Amino acid sequence: MQKNIKIKVALAGNPNSGKSTIFNSLTGSNQHVGNYPGITVEKKEGSKSYKGYDINFVDLPGMYSLSAFSDDEIVARDFLIKEKPDIVINTIDTTNLERNLYLFTQLTELSVPIIMVLNMVDILRSQGKVIDKKAMSDLLGVPVIATVANRKIGIDDILDSIVSLFENKKLKHQIRAKVDFGDVIKEQTDKLEDLISKNPTLSIFPGRWLAIEFLDNGPSILELISETNNKSEILTQLKKSKEHIKEHFGEKADKEIVDRRYGFAKSIVKTVVKKTGQNKVDITGIIDSFVLNKYLGIPIFILVMYVIFKFTFTFADPMVNLFGLLFKWIEGVVASLLPIGPVQSLIVKGIIGGVGGVFGFFPMMLFMFFAIAFFEDSGYMARAAFVMDKVMSRFGLHGKSFLPLMLSTYGCAVTGILSTRTLDSKRDRLITMFIAPFMICGAKLTVFALIIGAFFHAKYQTGIMVVMYFLSIVIALGIAKLLSSTVLKGEAAYFVIELPPYHIPTIKGLLLKMWERGTLYVRKAGTTIVFASILIWVIFAYPKAPINENLSKNEQAALQTQYSFAGRAGKILEPFFKPIGMDGNRAVALIAGFAAKEVIVSALGTIYAIEDDSGENLPLKEKIANDKDWSFLKGITFLIFCLIYIPCVVSVIVFFKETGSSYKWLALLVIGSTASAWIVSFIVFQIGTLLKH
Ligand code: GDP
Ligand code: MG
Repeated sequence: MQKNIKIKVALAGNPNSGKSTIFNSLTGSNQHVGNYPGITVEKKEGSKSYKGYDINFVDLPGMYSLSAFSDDEIVARDFLIKEKPDIVINTIDTTNLERNLYLFTQLTELSVPIIMVLNMVDILRSQGKVIDKKAMSDLLGVPVIATVANRKIGIDDILDSIVSLFENKKLKHQIRAKVDFGDVIKEQTDKLEDLISKNPTLSIFPGRWLAIEFLDNGPSILELISETNNKSEILTQLKKSKEHIKEHFGEKADKEIVDRRYGFAKSIVKTVVKKTGQNKVDITGIIDSFVLNKYLGIPIFILVMYVIFKFTFTFADPMVNLFGLLFKWIEGVVASLLPIGPVQSLIVKGIIGGVGGVFGFFPMMLFMFFAIAFFEDSGYMARAAFVMDKVMSRFGLHGKSFLPLMLSTYGCAVTGILSTRTLDSKRDRLITMFIAPFMICGAKLTVFALIIGAFFHAKYQTGIMVVMYFLSIVIALGIAKLLSSTVLKGEAAYFVIELPPYHIPTIKGLLLKMWERGTLYVRKAGTTIVFASILIWVIFAYPKAPINENLSKNEQAALQTQYSFAGRAGKILEPFFKPIGMDGNRAVALIAGFAAKEVIVSALGTIYAIEDDSGENLPLKEKIANDKDWSFLKGITFLIFCLIYIPCVVSVIVFFKETGSSYKWLALLVIGSTASAWIVSFIVFQIGTLLKH
């Protein structure tokens, strides 16, 4: 049998232009997700056999430009340049034509053939506008196809166009309309191009594109120069060229270049967009007049958050309980299958217990991701970021930072950290990732509920919890402010988020997004949690205490705790914990909490098992409340320490990976948080002790 010819196709386009929807329609279930080597950005690939060809598609991360500010953009850009796909499909959200065409102006600088896909023409039509496809194709010199991706309209046209572009060898040297930067700039880019072509590292890039990027200050591209051999020559020329351009236009080179690209996009829009005269009611405009209103914006945002959590808790609760029962059932079954002994204990208590504890949150996350996806896909989240930008920028953060912080609060810092990928600048991303673990996640909530339950009258408990939330926000924003005015000085990225028109999201799209994010968490956290669970089990189970027949089961368990590695570590670390009002037992619980914060509760449970001997079987919080080694002040100090000290191991690992494996940032997070926790607890405890006397 004859083997099919392969065609490599990459989908490139702005975020939310419908790239993934098109990719899914093109490839169906024939796709898989991997990672780009070395970084955590996802790589989605799929294929389709069509007219005797095997067409391989890659769904690149969304990007606004090739000047690559975010990791996503860098990945997409490098793919286009280094992997040299046969064809690039540029998806365009036609309701935001001008902004989407900006990327196109840069794509034309690369040497790959382009097919332009005008998506969302249904919405454009409802706004009373149509695009003249033929005029567009003539003007730009590329095939142009109109689609309504979510209804699979135009998808086959894309396939036909790929095949005909591929077969027509002449078109492989597409003559595409490029932005004319004018003689003055061209003179300078020619000089730079000449130097670039002599440089072995840089000559693999399209020369004109790189020359323009240099003038445009593409940040990660300028870094390339340091690796090259005629570096000083290029840098000198670059400086001269920039000065020359500035002199001529009275305007910096990068501004001039951006202006010309937009000018090009604008003129295309003017020519190809036609009004149909059947302008329907501008629903988007009407909704926006409320949602973006100076006074109503924030209250509406709070209301939306409330709806998301109400939805999550209402529907997730039964599922969480079901999950709990499921894990209990598995524990029972596995325990009955294995002989009693260390292997049974490791698997049942260590692995299933530990993993179950953490994965108990999984259904809750799915529901929350569903609700959040709804507001994202509908177009509201872009507005929320817009509304929140004013507040966030006071602390050196970007409007888009609120979503990761929210995810950290109501789910887990891991999802929060992963979701910072939507931020465009490295600096904004770092700050947001750094503060995400200081929010009160679901796991910390269980610890606080226990301690607050033990030391505060029922009347005050909710109030104290609110205070804790407030405190966590103050701490996180304080750290953000500190970082942004010291190590990460600089402005938060200019707010360029576009406001897409409102859509009614499709159930399939929402489910897909929910599943993608949910499983991302499982994949990232899964292995680490299994490993941490085993480790915790080992340090509590070994070395074995001698069996004493006179002791009750609980007394024996408590003896084991003291005897174990964890118990011994607690004893050794006692001097470190004493000045903040904690004994060896609490030290052990806090150390165990590094595995996962809810482990603090289970560790305290094990430690207090001894008092159960009375036969009263008091709840843990009452045992703590009755313990003379605790006090109100010690309870408060414990809460504060828990709030600030080292984030759980999964968050730390994910943080490390997402910073590009930076040991510097890892050290700052781990040592910085624990040291501050100790200092703050010390101050609170010592002042509190003084006041009591
Ligand atoms: P991506 O970020 O470029 O991958 O965009 P998605 O494929 O996730 O699409 C963003 C949103 O637009 C989703 O809610 C889609 O269902 C919706 N969408 C995609 N194409 C169309 C279209 O042609 N018309 C309409 N009305 N909605 C679309
Ligand atoms: Mg996508």
